[in-house]
Amino acid sequence: MSVPSSPAPAAACGLGGCTNPVVVQWQRRVAPADPESLPAVQAVFACTQHAMALDLASHVHAPACTAPDLAHLPGCNCTPEPLPTPPPAVQTVTLSTGWTVSAS
Ligand SMILES: [Zn+2]
Ligand SMILES: [Zn+2]
Repeated sequence: MSVPSSPAPAAACGLGGCTNPVVVQWQRRVAPADPESLPAVQAVFACTQHAMALDLASHVHAPACTAPDLAHLPGCNCTPEPLPTPPPAVQTVTLSTGWTVSAS
């Protein structure tokens, strides 16, 4: 990818010289500089044309993920981390009197 002669504003998408304003973002893991570091994430930005699918954007992507990439949009080239699973719903029992109470 060539360096544009005049730097694009930071708020522009920039993919393939795209000058559309950035409107979406998702998170990508940053490979830690040393194994002791906590895994960090960085924000990745894109415009409406180069946004990945919303369900993908809700995941954290691998450090090697190249999205937004014209070859893969609206997908990407990594397998995103699974979403954290929500805590299990509280088990309830309904009493004969109509009350719903916790089963534990
Ligand atoms: Zn764009
Ligand atoms: Zn990805």
